[in-house]
Amino acid sequence: MDELLENHWHHLPIAEVRQILEVHADGLRDLEVRHRLERFGPNQVTAVRQRSAMLRLLAQFNNPLIYILLASAVVTALLKGPVDAIAIALVVVVNALLGFVQESRAEAEIESLRRMVTTEATVIREGERKRVPSAELVPGDLVALQSGDRVPADLRLAEVRELHVDESALTGESVPVPKDLGPLAVDAPLAERFDMAYAGSVVTYGQARGLVVATGDGTETGRIAKLVGSASPLETPLTRKIAHFSKVLLVGIVALAATAFIVGVLRRESWAEMLIAAVTLAVAAIPEGLPAVVTITLAIGVRRMARRRAIIRKLPAVETLGSTTVVCSDKTGTLTRNEMTVVRVQAGGETFELEGSGYEPSGEVRRAGQPLRPGEGSALEECLRAGILCNDTQLERIGERWQVQGDPTEAALRVSAAKLGLARPEALARFHRLDEIPFESDRQYMATLHTDGDVRRVDLKGSVERVLARCTHALGASGQALELNAQAVLAQAEALASRGLRVLAFAKKVLEADRAHLTHEDVAADMVFLGLQAMLDPPRPEAIAAVRACRSAGVRVKMITGDHPLTAAAIARELGLEGSGQAITGRELERLHERELIDVADRCSVFARVAPEQKLELVEALQSRGHVVAMTGDGVNDAPALRKADIGVAMGITGTDAAKEAAAMVLTDDDFATIEAAIEEGRGVFDNLTKFIVWTLPTNIGQGMVILAAVVLGLLLPILPVQVLWINMTTAVFLGLALAFEPKEAGIMARPPRARDTPILTAELVTRTLFISALLLVAAFGVFEWEQSVGEDLASARTAAVNVFVLVQGFYLFNCRSLTRSVFSVGLFSNLWAVGGLITMIAAQVAFTYLPILNHLFKSDPVRPLAWLWALLASLLGVLFVGLEKWVRGRIRKRRPRRPLRKSRVQHA
Ligand code: ADP
Ligand code: MG
Repeated sequence: MDELLENHWHHLPIAEVRQILEVHADGLRDLEVRHRLERFGPNQVTAVRQRSAMLRLLAQFNNPLIYILLASAVVTALLKGPVDAIAIALVVVVNALLGFVQESRAEAEIESLRRMVTTEATVIREGERKRVPSAELVPGDLVALQSGDRVPADLRLAEVRELHVDESALTGESVPVPKDLGPLAVDAPLAERFDMAYAGSVVTYGQARGLVVATGDGTETGRIAKLVGSASPLETPLTRKIAHFSKVLLVGIVALAATAFIVGVLRRESWAEMLIAAVTLAVAAIPEGLPAVVTITLAIGVRRMARRRAIIRKLPAVETLGSTTVVCSDKTGTLTRNEMTVVRVQAGGETFELEGSGYEPSGEVRRAGQPLRPGEGSALEECLRAGILCNDTQLERIGERWQVQGDPTEAALRVSAAKLGLARPEALARFHRLDEIPFESDRQYMATLHTDGDVRRVDLKGSVERVLARCTHALGASGQALELNAQAVLAQAEALASRGLRVLAFAKKVLEADRAHLTHEDVAADMVFLGLQAMLDPPRPEAIAAVRACRSAGVRVKMITGDHPLTAAAIARELGLEGSGQAITGRELERLHERELIDVADRCSVFARVAPEQKLELVEALQSRGHVVAMTGDGVNDAPALRKADIGVAMGITGTDAAKEAAAMVLTDDDFATIEAAIEEGRGVFDNLTKFIVWTLPTNIGQGMVILAAVVLGLLLPILPVQVLWINMTTAVFLGLALAFEPKEAGIMARPPRARDTPILTAELVTRTLFISALLLVAAFGVFEWEQSVGEDLASARTAAVNVFVLVQGFYLFNCRSLTRSVFSVGLFSNLWAVGGLITMIAAQVAFTYLPILNHLFKSDPVRPLAWLWALLASLLGVLFVGLEKWVRGRIRKRRPRRPLRKSRVQHA
């Protein structure tokens, strides 16, 4: 075992690998696994932070706006002495610390949520197959791989069947690599070690078994991870936009400050005074709290979505979800319950009804309404037997309930067979399984090879079209082979499908006794048709409600399935999908030209017998019409479509690792209604960000204008740089942050999606922002001048001006809690953060005004009671105006016929 560190595994014959790893053909013993887990540690790559905490803290200062603040501190220190400069520096540091703490917390939270989607692996231990968390693998473990799996550790392959592995994460090679058994030359480079499968790569096709030779940090990926680290997960289109905005703002602020300085100096003011004014202007105009609040709001969105069972893997999805216009969803398991029950079997030209529901294996089998007598229906028996032989599920009784492991479609076949007294263990004892071809969506069939006395028997099951195409004969009622009447069978299948039933066809064939392996050619022709089994898979009730909610929210729902077009159309009708009368098939899509495809993709809602590759085409077609597309998927072939979609959605329960990795969001319950919930939360997040921006901008514009006015009019500054910082910081923390916790507005799903390219601030919101800014300018300046004119000293007058800013913002906060509705209809106390924030803010402001130490730090001074009244009046004026404005706009909106609030590029057919 000590040679473990040497990595020449690809060069050794498999027998030798077994010997070194001390493992038998039936895998490790459990006790040994425990020993090795202790010795080698869990199979996890130790997380490497790309940047150390120190570096990330320093990065908080790496912001053009902070440069201005720091420059201001230096200028202030030179001109006004250390106290002011220290205050500015302190604020900068506190701001950076706050940003750092928030960012780290958000990052850790998103990271831990992402990790909740743990991966599992299939191992063979003591001869038994089981699923274990990938982290519990040890060197020597025998691992089984199948398409869609993420390779859980570095493996030396011991058995392969058409195995293809996507190693792009490791080698950059995007074409899947076919694998083989080796051994290979000792100097084979990593990319050419065809007898190895490396951790982190994804199986795109086929199956294999391999021995774990390295785990955790010992794997090739583990080594690379140490070098590369991961990209910052906290960037989204919006944060990038804001970063860009800061840069534009920087230029504007510097230009304005320079103008102020030059104007002042030209008027022969002291240049030192003017430099201070310019610095104050710069500090005033910077929205210091913005980046932190954006991060916090997004993080809260992620948390709310997680609570509703949608795990966000890529942060931009939080934002994009709010503007989703189309959801393309799988049918089986997402829109339907995925608890299948076979209700009807057609075999030997006869129809059988099965009673009972769910996985409870009891219920009568009837033929034409009469109970079946023993010995009757040997075609029926063969059809049901094929269903349990060609099957990979486990059926267990846990308490009162029967639970399945594996594909529900197959579980249903076990239950139907059990109703006739056929059990899988007994069947397998008589017909040993030698080989299998697993089910793949594109091929639509599965086959297994079994011993059968002195011959071999192949069982096939799959979609009606694919199975019938391979059959020449059919089994008659009493077991004799007859000529197949494919037309009649297809007609029967269609009759079943149009009732919304999922139909599977079964066939078998005899092969020579020396066969141990099964190939696709073996099942290509000359099969004997055994019958059809039709199963019920009703829509989820909550999906029906969610489809309705999506419709009122202007989000269109499209069903994409591999199932029969008639089954799909029937389920679509039950779900209430738009125009669900007919389904378009994958074959029909193939024949369309690009223009037609775009049209059909936009117009139709049900797509059946669609190959996973066609999902990508559908996403692209919809996107070319300006749609923002959410697309669900679970298989490895869905990954490209999930990546291409604006929001790739993977199934948490039935999804493969490949799909989860490609997705931006994972549904822990596989339920369509969860997507609708996430869209709702996404809209809420965007609303709250808009609310914060509308709330915060007037502070910056108002302060900037106050200072500019003072310089232009040649008057004393109504507020000092430290006071500006006090206003910006305290209001952002005590007041603005409350908006991140604002609950979703009622009716959030009753309006059309917001077009992705609309600016955050509409004309309406810009007007409102400018009004509050103007109010702040007039009120703060007015109070400052008035207080001086009645004999108050300069410090008191400035304090009174600061109070105006803080109180106006405090009351305006309540206006901002809804963008369209009045404070009272939202409920004054429905966000306690806002109420608590306002009370805290007022307390802080009283301290600012009367507490000596704060007086000293911020150059403030107690004011006369009347000064408070002025500030209060200004606040009420603001609240009144915005309330009135909303009311008038509401009236106008109601009178006009309802149309999308904002211009949308999406053309509705
Ligand atoms: P979806 O998941 O969209 O319902 P699938 O690709 O799983 O579609 O199934 C397509 C068709 O393949 C089904 O209509 C059924 O006839 C067949 N099928 C589904 N599951 C299995 C399976 N486990 N074995 C064989 N055939 C299957
Ligand atoms: Mg399926």
